[in-house]
Amino acid sequence: MVLKKLPITEHRLYKIAEEYGTPFYIYDQKGIEDNINNFKKSFSWCSNFYKYFAVKATPNPWILKLLHNMGIGADCSSMAELILAEAVGLKGKEIVFSSNNTADEEFIKANSLGAIINLDDISMFGDLERLKIIPEKISFRYNPGNKVSIGNNFIGKPEDAKYGMTKEQLLESVQIAKKLKIPFIGIHTMIVSSELTLDVLIANIRMLFELAIEIREKFNVIVDFIDFGGGIGIPYHPDDRAVNLFELGKRTHELFKSMMSGFEKTQLSFECGRAITGPYGYLVTKVIHHKNIYKKYIGVDACMADLMRPGIYGAYHEITVCSKEDTNETQIYDIVGSLCENNDKFAINRKLPKILKGDLIVIHDTGAHGHSMGFNYNGKLRHQELLLHSDGTIQKIRRNETLNDLFSTLDFPGL
Ligand SMILES: *Cc1c(COP(=O)(O)O)cnc(C)c1O
Repeated sequence: MVLKKLPITEHRLYKIAEEYGTPFYIYDQKGIEDNINNFKKSFSWCSNFYKYFAVKATPNPWILKLLHNMGIGADCSSMAELILAEAVGLKGKEIVFSSNNTADEEFIKANSLGAIINLDDISMFGDLERLKIIPEKISFRYNPGNKVSIGNNFIGKPEDAKYGMTKEQLLESVQIAKKLKIPFIGIHTMIVSSELTLDVLIANIRMLFELAIEIREKFNVIVDFIDFGGGIGIPYHPDDRAVNLFELGKRTHELFKSMMSGFEKTQLSFECGRAITGPYGYLVTKVIHHKNIYKKYIGVDACMADLMRPGIYGAYHEITVCSKEDTNETQIYDIVGSLCENNDKFAINRKLPKILKGDLIVIHDTGAHGHSMGFNYNGKLRHQELLLHSDGTIQKIRRNETLNDLFSTLDFPGL
């Protein structure tokens, strides 16, 4: 039987586990590529559509390279992410640098790569001036505050968010950019996250279209770039429904036709992470302990240090037990890691097929904000990442961390 979405047999998965050891992340290249093709098709009506990948979602150069080969750029917000983007050959408009509370070195690096520098705050003009940087491409991050009610639960109310600038600051920033004769000016926002409702995504797009129109009316400037941010959700829970990308494209097109005459040359972009790789990554872990006290616990060899979303957000991830999908015998389990934190649980009170020691557990939809959010609390080591190529071959794209890696920043005799 084929594992839900992962296009390999369970037998093969056991073989991979034997060869590479557990736990591991595995990413499905074909799934990612098909998804990107769908996205592109949905926006093929737009003559200047360009998609960025939020590097923080899966900051592995092999993934970025695969995406680059498909014409996807990088949305970076730190030095490390800029260096990764550079390493895979991205430059100029292929990079958006969307940082906040930014360090000088990061501005310098982003500028040297010719990235679109997306300013989080108007005060950053002062930083750029001090650094003698006049970027060729600039963009401004908009925070609508209480002017809209479309921010969702994950990001919260825009007026409570630290990101972006007010309308007044943004309009002033456009004037400053014009005075500096910056030839490429854009607008950006990121106020939705994990959003599955089309109406909310469209309201976000409409908000930026309206802002672009206001800028044209006030300053006679046609923005060169409109970045709708990321935040498109994926169906983590079986009851969730995926965003229909064709519908999103179609409705954006209708909105564009009705509002945006004169903006035909403007680059339209998304900078999604989750919606690009999220559904196509799996964390595979082995059952190493059973424990029956007031509840039944299944101890696995991965822990919250490998995947923190369930622990910190109570996020739901589908779990399947390899080779057991057809079993009628079920149990209610908590699936737990080994961290000394009680929220180190991948699932709570989950009905699953009866699990035995040695079984492989697959945690789904971990292709974004999975490995990348890992940490080393309790001295836990982060694990390997594998890439399942379209031709069925496997490439190890990150090795396991070792204790030597962990201790490498300590200078202590005997360590
Ligand atoms: C995190 C982030 C993204 C990506 O978010 P997803 O939910 O993965 O789409 C995009 N842009 C910015 C500025 C971000 O901080």
